[in-house]
Amino acid sequence: MEGFNLKHSSILHILLFLLFSCFGVNSKYIAYNTSQGIVGDKINVHLVPHSHDDVGWLKTVDQYYFGGNNSIRGACVQNVLDSVIQALLDDKNRKFIYVEMAFFQRWWRQQSPALKKKVKELVNSGQLEFINGGMCMHDEATPHYIDLIDQTTMGHLFIKDAFGQTPRVGWQIDPFGHSAVQAYLLGAELGFDSLYFARIDYQDRAKRKDDKTLEVIWRGSSSLGSSSQIFTGIFPRHYDPPDGFTFEINDVSPPIQDDVLLFDYNVKERVNDFVAAALAQANGTRTNHLMWAMGTDFRYQYAVSWFRQMDKFIHYVNMDGRVNALYSTPSIYTDAKYAADEKWPVKTGDFFPYADQENAYWTGYFTSRPAFKGYVRMMSSYYLAARQLEYFVGRSGSGPNTDVLGDALALAQHHDAVSGTERQHVAADYALRISMGYAKAEEVVVSSLASLTESRLNSSHDSLSTKLQQCPLLNISYCPPSESLLSNGKSFVVIVYNPLGWKREEVVRIPVSFKEVIVQDHDGREIVSQLLPLTNFSLNTRNYHVRAYLGVSPGNTPSYWLAFSAFVPPLGFSTYIISRANKTDASVTMSAISRPEGGSNNIVEIGQGNLKLHYSAQEGKLVHYSNSRNLVRTSAEQTYSYYSGYEGFDRVNQASGAYVFRPNNTYTIKPEGQVPLTVMRGPVVDEIHQQINAWIYQVTRVYKGTEHAEVEYNIGPIPVDDKVGKEITAKISTALKTNKTFYTDSNGRDFIRRVRDYREDWDLQVNQPIAGNYYPINLGIYAKDEKMELSVLVDRAVGGASLVDGQIELMLHRRLLYDDARGVGEVLNETVCVLKDCKGLMVNGMFYIKIDPLGEGAKWRRTFGQEIYSPLLLAFAEQDENNWLSSHVPTFSAVDSSYSLPKNIAVVTLQELDSGIVLLRLAHLYETGEDKDYSVMSSVELKKLFTGKKMTKVVEMNLSGNQERAEMEKKRLVWKVEGSTAETKITRGGPIDPKKLVVELAPMEIRTFFISVNNLKMFGS
Ligand SMILES: [Zn+2]
Repeated sequence: MEGFNLKHSSILHILLFLLFSCFGVNSKYIAYNTSQGIVGDKINVHLVPHSHDDVGWLKTVDQYYFGGNNSIRGACVQNVLDSVIQALLDDKNRKFIYVEMAFFQRWWRQQSPALKKKVKELVNSGQLEFINGGMCMHDEATPHYIDLIDQTTMGHLFIKDAFGQTPRVGWQIDPFGHSAVQAYLLGAELGFDSLYFARIDYQDRAKRKDDKTLEVIWRGSSSLGSSSQIFTGIFPRHYDPPDGFTFEINDVSPPIQDDVLLFDYNVKERVNDFVAAALAQANGTRTNHLMWAMGTDFRYQYAVSWFRQMDKFIHYVNMDGRVNALYSTPSIYTDAKYAADEKWPVKTGDFFPYADQENAYWTGYFTSRPAFKGYVRMMSSYYLAARQLEYFVGRSGSGPNTDVLGDALALAQHHDAVSGTERQHVAADYALRISMGYAKAEEVVVSSLASLTESRLNSSHDSLSTKLQQCPLLNISYCPPSESLLSNGKSFVVIVYNPLGWKREEVVRIPVSFKEVIVQDHDGREIVSQLLPLTNFSLNTRNYHVRAYLGVSPGNTPSYWLAFSAFVPPLGFSTYIISRANKTDASVTMSAISRPEGGSNNIVEIGQGNLKLHYSAQEGKLVHYSNSRNLVRTSAEQTYSYYSGYEGFDRVNQASGAYVFRPNNTYTIKPEGQVPLTVMRGPVVDEIHQQINAWIYQVTRVYKGTEHAEVEYNIGPIPVDDKVGKEITAKISTALKTNKTFYTDSNGRDFIRRVRDYREDWDLQVNQPIAGNYYPINLGIYAKDEKMELSVLVDRAVGGASLVDGQIELMLHRRLLYDDARGVGEVLNETVCVLKDCKGLMVNGMFYIKIDPLGEGAKWRRTFGQEIYSPLLLAFAEQDENNWLSSHVPTFSAVDSSYSLPKNIAVVTLQELDSGIVLLRLAHLYETGEDKDYSVMSSVELKKLFTGKKMTKVVEMNLSGNQERAEMEKKRLVWKVEGSTAETKITRGGPIDPKKLVVELAPMEIRTFFISVNNLKMFGS
């Protein structure tokens, strides 16, 4: 705009304009002036052209891409990209942002070299800007932070590789509430300068509009505070333009008609409309900069339809001169906000839960599709472990690798994927992609483990003589290698791999068919083991689901679970040999089984170690919890209830559905008749089996060496013959006086304080006392009083709350019969089928309960929580001629044999990239002040972590690895905040000394490194 005299040009245009309209001059070509930049003393309306492209929702990701299944919805992202690129090439002033790399990659790989060159020029000139830049716009309530990091890294490295660019802005416009982890970790730690979104609670938004606090500086982590803050803009309404400014070809907004020879000439009216909408928004916004998100879902399929109108608006509005309109991007907008040198209010905590109107709390999706949520979490940890093993033996250029699973998991983090808010056929598509990725990753895992046991690296997979198998359906006691071996007298081998950086002792459970069994470690020592008979419930569940999921009838029928304690080194494996025992051998212990009678006051106690759980045989339920070591004793109950889902068809009669939780009534689930408890006791684990009702079966386990209770639940099929949708909860009740307060994690990371019927940021008007107090849980939930803390950890994303003092509830399953009118247009009624015979979905999962003295709960929540996320990985092999140990390496650890990571540090990524560089991410698991021993600066010795390797270069990167950390810090904008800026001292690990190579991590810090590594020697050699 330099040298261009604005004022005179505008006057000239107005004169011409008046001339044309008065005298009816011939219509002719109008060269619209779209070059306008920011004008300092005017209200600047930043027009940000965008298309919100869900990577799956009503259609699958591929159907959305190529325009398939258009009877469901006319949406074709290929059209969007083709036509947008052409529109940008047509006028160098036009701009566009693109967000979802899963779509962009699909498009990019099919373009000609000539067009690719042009697109690179568009990117370099800033006309096309990548925003957010992950594979998808991830959900913020139900993914684990490790998945969020992985999917963002994948997209960012693609952009870096193809375009040399680093996205600057977070654009989470559609997710249904916003997490603290999004702000600081997937925002500031990526190097983003700002974050924008639309959906916050309607009461919160009203207040923020009133006091002009829609734009804030968000400090998501209390541990990292201002060192990880981000400028955050909340849209005044939604992520579409103001009413009357949408221009997809079928939209009803009046286009500008500026041809004087045609009827309906409307330039003046439309300019007035534009100015009025801008002034209205300016009323609720600080500084003289406004953003209009010009687009919405799957728009710009015929891009010129939008750009033509924006060209005209920019031209005529600027001629009018009351406000200034310009083509912009969120980056330009952010820079303008920054340049204004304003002070901004500080926001802490998060934006959960989200309600878009009274009685419409979007807290149902915290649990929707619980089996899929469990599958995503299980595969997330598998992907982490598989990449470690892939790296240990060298990534294969040609053979199977872990990329397919990575891609599938990245898509699954989308805000209509793991959230459970997609249509059924789309959920099936995500699951299919994950299972295909799993199949490839399993090949990597078994061949890597085989290589390591044969002590051969970089060998072709075909040359390995060791054949290992895995059992992904172990949770339904289906494991052909462990069931069928032994029958021929042969023994079998279990390789137990530990993906964590510290050594572990943990109980392994596998199904076997014989009771004469011996378990030996690799030194030939017999290990204490225990057999637990498989119940009829387990067998029925197993047989049905093997038929449903594998399409075959399970062959063998195992008779027992075999349980024993495995010791495993960090990032390594141990080997156990299971063989048939002679009758005379001292061998496995068969569990003592009892079905206690419900006489009055008959109390059943389980637990061979410090923890004892006491059950009333009469009532068939838990009554008391005690720990003999720390002297915690309290009454405790664990029960099931259900909410009946509200019925309705629209937003006025709001139903409970895939997104929205709207309970109608609450019912406690009581045992139907007197079903006795079944108790199994032994040297490894005590179990108590409860048939809660016809469709809930629960096993509670107390392992000898641990101090928590593990609850395995099987829920479903939820009956709906009564035409009532149901949402099933487990409640854990104690006498703790928790004063309305509880804590839930943010994507598995920082715990955030919640107070019942209360919001930090506004005076909450309570109209849904149950749904409005639900929060997303990925790691756990806890509550405390002056003496004790009650913690519950989970194995997948669920919704949870504390609606009564001393009580925690988790929503574990939902089956609903009404659509909740938020667009999905399908009821959340999942089924599982054997051929055409379908019944309601059954969900199998775990939660874990512990009660600690006050101040001692964090150790378990954090360190054991990481063990829940990363379970031991098992692989099985047949042993020929009892010679396994003479021909195989029995135990392995990638780290120095004297070394173990501290229990407050997790290796969250260890992966060989295509370039051969190793990506290492280390995470401190504790917050500041959370634990007296573990909330401290800790360090990791890279030389011991990479033992036997020479690190030629170690570079600290930002979280997604697309720029050096130092470079990112240098560019970081320093925002001014309102009020007192005092905060508790923030600590961060110091720079890494290139000689010592010791990484320091402060509480809640995650540090990312690119490491160039040369092998000094082969593992195990
Ligand atoms: Zn969306």
